[in-house]
Amino acid sequence: QYSTSKNIINVNELIVEKTKTPFQKYTDKTKLVFGKQFSDHMIEVPWTKEEGWGTPKISGYHNLSIPPSASVLHYALECFEGMKAYKDSNGKIRLFRPDQNMNRFLNSAKRICLPEFNKEAVVELIKKLCIMDKDWIPEGKGYSLYLRPTLIATQNSLGVGASNSALMFVIASPVGPYYPEGFKPVKLIADDQYVRAWAGGSGAFKLGSNYAPTIFPQLEAAKKGYSQVLWLLNDYVTEVGTMNMFVYWKNAQGEKELITPPLGDGTILPGVTRDSILKLAQKWGEFKITEKNFTMTELAKAIKEGRVLEAFGAGTAAIVSPIESISYKGENYNIPIDTSLGCGPLTKKISESIMSIQYGETDSDWSVVI
Ligand code: PMP
Repeated sequence: QYSTSKNIINVNELIVEKTKTPFQKYTDKTKLVFGKQFSDHMIEVPWTKEEGWGTPKISGYHNLSIPPSASVLHYALECFEGMKAYKDSNGKIRLFRPDQNMNRFLNSAKRICLPEFNKEAVVELIKKLCIMDKDWIPEGKGYSLYLRPTLIATQNSLGVGASNSALMFVIASPVGPYYPEGFKPVKLIADDQYVRAWAGGSGAFKLGSNYAPTIFPQLEAAKKGYSQVLWLLNDYVTEVGTMNMFVYWKNAQGEKELITPPLGDGTILPGVTRDSILKLAQKWGEFKITEKNFTMTELAKAIKEGRVLEAFGAGTAAIVSPIESISYKGENYNIPIDTSLGCGPLTKKISESIMSIQYGETDSDWSVVI
């Protein structure tokens, strides 16, 4: 099926070693905490510059052994993905747009000179892992198995350069709904002291090095009572926490419009949820949809004028995360929330539409049955 040339992962060579020491499984799925528990198995595929991709393997979740000089540990040569496997009401396992995650994974790898790979092979391996660990996919709407494909540079050298060896691995973690008791809108702080990404930088790629520097500002925001940082760049709104930012407003012409910052200058991560929302909204055709830059000053003015109808973050973890207020230059700007929904009606509609596809209730080629 796959050729064995250098940058090709050969799924037909897969070695499967069932764990002899399975984990004790969670007993109460409602108590799952994101990323704390892992399923029994993991995927590994080694790579070297001379030999290309080695034999893929699925075996018990285990510690890795890498040299202390490995480039990933010094210069953060690593990239990753976040995606989920869902169990539908018929017990079928589904992935949501896995090709999109693989496109981004490959783009991230290229950005830091990690090896290229045949994306469909990684999806195949992920499917095999999901089947092996199917009992680790909690049932029910909002529940899923979070998948973390990762690619690290393992070169045994302190030189700053392209790695001549690497390891791709995928681990999986059962997770519950982001909002177990219904939407809980978040309070943001738009702080101009810190910048997440900049034009020509690496913000459009899912690199570990983009995330480490966000933890300190996030903790500072939390200390002040805000749950997320709204990342600005020269006053332009970019992203919210680890989500893409959407505003649904009446624009200066009085038209209802859904806006989100455009991709292209390297400051915005191309979210799979972002793309899905834009495509769904286009299909609905109920309001104008624009990918455009807007500043926090503009947004604050629109909120003051009562033109902002809804605002939300979008990402795999929560699908959508409603925003109730933004603190900016010492002033608090409140965004309307329908208290009976815990969000705005559009936010709710988007959440339900995407979830309905993820769990196979609405037919869509975005949902890939395993
Ligand atoms: N922006 C950032 C910085 C993120 O880490 C994520 C999560 N991957 C997103 C946006 C949302 O992307 P997705 O919809 O693909 O989860």
